[in-house]
Amino acid sequence: MYSVLIIGAGASGLVSAIILARRGKRVAILEKNSKVGKKLLATGNGRCNITNRKITLDKFYSQNPKFIEKVLDGYSFYSIKEFFNSIGLILTEEKEGKIFPISLQALSVVELLEYECKRLGVDIFCNSRVESVKKFKNRYRVEFNNSSLESKNLIIATGNISAPQLGGVDDGLEFARSLGHTIITPYPSLVQLTSPMANLKKISGVKISSRVTLRLKDKIIEKRGDILFTNYGISGLAILDISRFVVEELKYKKEVILTVDLIPNLSKDRLRAILNRRDRPLEIILQGLINKKIISFILDSKIENIIRNIKFFKFRIDGTRGFKGAEIATGGVDTREINPKSLKSKKHKGLYFTGELLDVDGNRGGFNLHFAWVCGLRVGKSI
Ligand SMILES: Cc1cc2nc3c(=O)[nH]c(=O)nc-3n(C[C@H](O)[C@H](O)[C@H](O)COP(=O)(O)OP(=O)(O)OC[C@H]3O[C@@H](n4cnc5c(N)ncnc54)[C@H](O)[C@@H]3O)c2cc1C
Repeated sequence: MYSVLIIGAGASGLVSAIILARRGKRVAILEKNSKVGKKLLATGNGRCNITNRKITLDKFYSQNPKFIEKVLDGYSFYSIKEFFNSIGLILTEEKEGKIFPISLQALSVVELLEYECKRLGVDIFCNSRVESVKKFKNRYRVEFNNSSLESKNLIIATGNISAPQLGGVDDGLEFARSLGHTIITPYPSLVQLTSPMANLKKISGVKISSRVTLRLKDKIIEKRGDILFTNYGISGLAILDISRFVVEELKYKKEVILTVDLIPNLSKDRLRAILNRRDRPLEIILQGLINKKIISFILDSKIENIIRNIKFFKFRIDGTRGFKGAEIATGGVDTREINPKSLKSKKHKGLYFTGELLDVDGNRGGFNLHFAWVCGLRVGKSI
């Protein structure tokens, strides 16, 4: 008889299993995929950006920010480092405080987590998609593959619906709903954006280092980094970073304008001076500054208009590439119904929710996995 059942052998599920098993609990994990940690293997482009040295609250979002503060309280980068060292994984730091396994292989993370589970006697049932969760008095019954298991404690660690091609499903949201929890509608985030603009094919494939700005009613969001023009719209790291805010706007508007600085390293005055030299045809001067494919989009008879087109290139956005293109889903189980210290449901004894399934999402840079690991550690200690 298991004292804890976990649905989902992803980031948070595997960590909670390890901590629980170390404390002597009999644990089983049910995983629908044929292997554990399928999404984890794809993280950080196959290198797994495990966490970030600088974990600060402004990197996370929720309808209930106080919840994040309480969950993360006392769990810094060092807590995650200590945990991973304890399973034999050594970490290394790259730019912007991003932390990776020193092997630079997500596979190391998954295989060491799996090994530790097995070493501690955790039973992992793969190819076992839980179809329903039922509560009887003080027990939970999970049904899968025409059989079922029961336990006093149940952790729902199923993740959210981002990246369905890597196994993202809404099963966890359905289980939570069936148990009376409120669901905040998920939206894709850290996602590529689509545009209705004509002639995108002409600039498709052009990648530049840029500054992208989104003007909101009460603030201006600005992100720097690579952007990539595509035949559907726009992608690249700066776009993924700003996508969360664009998606928020698209809930109320049909279209959102992103202002792209096509040459952020050149001031307007410097640009003006170069263009005013007029020692060569304008197209040739521009070719010395910018990718040739963009020139037809910015060319004008007036120098001031060209400067405006370069420094404030207006890119119209009308949607996203959806959950398939998203690294993360916003929304999820309403955290007002969850205890932040234990991740326990306030509605049912013995029921816990972790990771992306909760209404918490973070920036790129290791923050989403950080949150998932911390959930795993907290649940592991609290049951
Ligand atoms: C391409 C990509 C790259 C990313 N890179 C990074 C990165 O570098 N750094 C970072 O911090 N974050 C990254 N993320 C986000 C990160 O992967 C997630 O935030 C994290 O995995 C969430 O952990 P979790 O435990 O909530 O769920 P998951 O890790 O998604 O695990 C959930 C598990 O539950 C299983 N499951 C679901 N439903 C059922 C069911 N009914 N029965 C049985 N099993 C079920 C799933 O198959 C899955 O294995 C990336 C995401 C993507 C898509």
